[in-house]
Amino acid sequence: AKEQGRNNYQFYTHEMNERISKRVQLEKRLRTALEHDEFVLHYQPQIDLKTGQVSGSEALIRWNQPDMGLVSPMEFIPIAEETGLIVPIGEWVLRRACEQNVLWQKAGYPQMKVSANLSARQFVQKNLVENIQQILTDTGLDPELLELEITESIAMQQEEYVVSKLNALRGIGIKIAIDDFGTGYSSLSYIKKLPINTLKIDKSFLTDIKNESDEEEITSTIIALAKNLKLNVIAEGVETKEQLQFLQQRRCDEAQGYLFSKPLSDKDFEALLMKQKDP
Ligand code: C2E
Ligand code: CA
Ligand code: CA
Ligand code: CA
Repeated sequence: AKEQGRNNYQFYTHEMNERISKRVQLEKRLRTALEHDEFVLHYQPQIDLKTGQVSGSEALIRWNQPDMGLVSPMEFIPIAEETGLIVPIGEWVLRRACEQNVLWQKAGYPQMKVSANLSARQFVQKNLVENIQQILTDTGLDPELLELEITESIAMQQEEYVVSKLNALRGIGIKIAIDDFGTGYSSLSYIKKLPINTLKIDKSFLTDIKNESDEEEITSTIIALAKNLKLNVIAEGVETKEQLQFLQQRRCDEAQGYLFSKPLSDKDFEALLMKQKDP
């Protein structure tokens, strides 16, 4: 038994070593990925539930790694966060998303908003507001068409700081959404104090809607809360007709999920816009 224990231990350290060296490798490659232009944005349509039309998109990053193909953000965003690389990467995301939105407008598609995810590291960056202002100026995007998604956990940091940062962001005309809402246990009185535009219902609450579960209750409550506070409310992770019907009955404003479309490359997203224009 003692022997076996030791073997297990060796096996474990071997696996750990492998994981660590993989991670170091990934970090190294991540450092050069921006220079080598290896990131791409995919866009997931957001649907206005009143009209059924595309009202905007969420820009989601992918890493087109030469030997690995498209790498999911779940694999590299946490490392980018830890190393601080998320700051230049996040700036690239914002610039690219704004640029693309202007291109679509110039091509004659209806005005749409674009949402981009803002990480905790970016949120606390000193010159965040100036950087975003610069991106808006350079790309010519109407600030009203840009929405930043910050997670509920970022929003729950020190109140005065968060409120003043959000006010500064809203001061340049952009919008703020609280992402993964409902997972962070923030109180209603707290949410009420934040200068935000949108609540984004976390996809975990949509999963069980068909089973008459607590999630139904939570989703209904969030929609009602948003209405009460005059906030826009969007559900993410909508995969079934039943979920859509549930949301429509409660007059949720917008929805996003595989039922409508997975995140699409810029070309595929444009094809979708074209189809909507001339069905
Ligand atoms: P998120 O912001 O919550 O984004 C939604 C995720 O749900 C996306 O995964 C999207 O592809 C996925 N999704 C969309 N519809 C459905 C659906 O119907 N069912 C299910 N199960 N999932 C759906 P993705 O693109 O892999 O992104 C994962 C996470 O990575 C994002 O979660 C976000 O936290 C982060 N991320 C992505 N792009 C960026 C970025 O540019 N900057 C930062 N800081 N984080 C990003
Ligand atoms: Ca998001
Ligand atoms: Ca989310
Ligand atoms: Ca659930």
